[in-house]
Amino acid sequence: MRNHLKHYINGEWIESTGSETHEVINPATEEVIGKISLGTKEDLDKAVAAARAAFPSFSQTSREERVEMLEKIAEEYANRKEEIIDVITEELGSPRKISENVHYNMGYNHFSEAAKVLKDFTFSEDRGDHTVVKEPVGVSGLITPWNFPTNQTSTKIASAFAAGSPVVLKPAELTPFAAIILTEIFDKVGVPKGVFNLVNGTGETIGDGISSHPDIDFVSFTGSAAVGEKVMKNASETIKNVALELGGKSPLVVLEDADVEKAAKAAVSHIATNTGQVCSAATRTLIPASMKEEFEEALKNVLPKFPVGDPQGKNYVGPLVSEKQWNTVQSYIQKGIDEGATLLAGGTGKPEGLDKGYYAKPTIFTDVKNDMVIAQEEIFGPVMCVLTYETIDEAIEIANDTVYGLAGYVFGNDGDTLRKVATSIRAGRIKVNNAELDPAAPFGGYKQSGIGREWGDYGIEEYLEKKAILGYPA
Ligand code: NAD
Repeated sequence: MRNHLKHYINGEWIESTGSETHEVINPATEEVIGKISLGTKEDLDKAVAAARAAFPSFSQTSREERVEMLEKIAEEYANRKEEIIDVITEELGSPRKISENVHYNMGYNHFSEAAKVLKDFTFSEDRGDHTVVKEPVGVSGLITPWNFPTNQTSTKIASAFAAGSPVVLKPAELTPFAAIILTEIFDKVGVPKGVFNLVNGTGETIGDGISSHPDIDFVSFTGSAAVGEKVMKNASETIKNVALELGGKSPLVVLEDADVEKAAKAAVSHIATNTGQVCSAATRTLIPASMKEEFEEALKNVLPKFPVGDPQGKNYVGPLVSEKQWNTVQSYIQKGIDEGATLLAGGTGKPEGLDKGYYAKPTIFTDVKNDMVIAQEEIFGPVMCVLTYETIDEAIEIANDTVYGLAGYVFGNDGDTLRKVATSIRAGRIKVNNAELDPAAPFGGYKQSGIGREWGDYGIEEYLEKKAILGYPA
């Protein structure tokens, strides 16, 4: 049992002032794997006070000291590799290979990239008659979701540490144990007292407390648009700056000259990876009408290459994170059927032979119209909508006909058309032909997908205030 009933405040593990606990469930077995404490506002106040007290000295640390700290964190993170993979596989139900290649690696990349970027980061800019200096924003409150337990936490923490901002983190209740390992890492490498504080708890108490806390200067939130809106409203009462990383309904545009097999494989990988619980996943696949039959055939052929089952085995697709998420996904699949989309693969219910665990059938709908609910709302599960287009302009119009703008994908060969689509999709990150993940490239959304950018130098910028000094002595 992974029972972690303490919060980490001011460099120590301390008892919660409340007595409520939350049971964490392994979604593959439906069994309880441990417990956390649900913190109180009093716990949060203590954490914020510790971070405030740490601010004067941490904000004055040298670039070199912070680079060294981030490098030590990356090193110790690598030492804990097997445990990190184990914990993510257990709490999220992520297949071991994905826990390693995606989750473990992303966390590692954020710490090592922050150390690298910090070495050459420009904190002071001479602009002739004035100088602009960038200073740590103050105390940062971090609220993270369950779907990427190391990625979301690490990108925020690495950027805040690089900038010199102490933090208070509230991870998601569903997947809190990866953050416990991160905390142990910070403790081991000697992150100064009060610079990192962890308070577990519910969104209603600790999340709400962070976004409205008068002694928190900046809130970085990743999660759903509905909660993001609440965070922004709360933060407005104390004129706090916010960064919001929210949902998406990203398009993948397949061009006429694309390799159909490769494009179909890429499309399916989006709904298969992390069981489709990825904010930037391409969930609307846009294909030329003339390619319909050939593409649908390719999708059917590719689907079995992403087997569903026990995440401890060699499967590619694990369960959804919770029963609640399973029910949500089921209701969207039913909605798609009711709306008149054609079920090419999958459907409601559990895959054959997988009665225990929150497994869903990877589902592909064709003949989808962009105004259907399944094409407009974020499902956050293994469900793809295939839509057809006649012209590139129509494809771009459909791609942009969404309240979201987190990511976009384009597959094909003609350089001019690839460029046209890439520059016309209104989203914060576009990938052309399955380009490699780059931890230096900024990540964030247009429209209702959010405010701000994380990762690399753009991520560090979020934790800095800009001060203009006029008449700066030479
Ligand atoms: P969620 O919004 O339900 O919860 C996110 C976090 O907010 C959790 O820690 C939760 O406890 C907390 N929270 C809940 N109520 C709160 C409140 N009133 N005030 C403050 N905090 C509160 O989201 P989720 O279900 O955990 O995650 C899935 C969502 O996250 C999806 O919409 C997904 O697209 C989004 N997401 C976005 C990105 C991105 O980078 N854009 C990355 C991952 C996930």
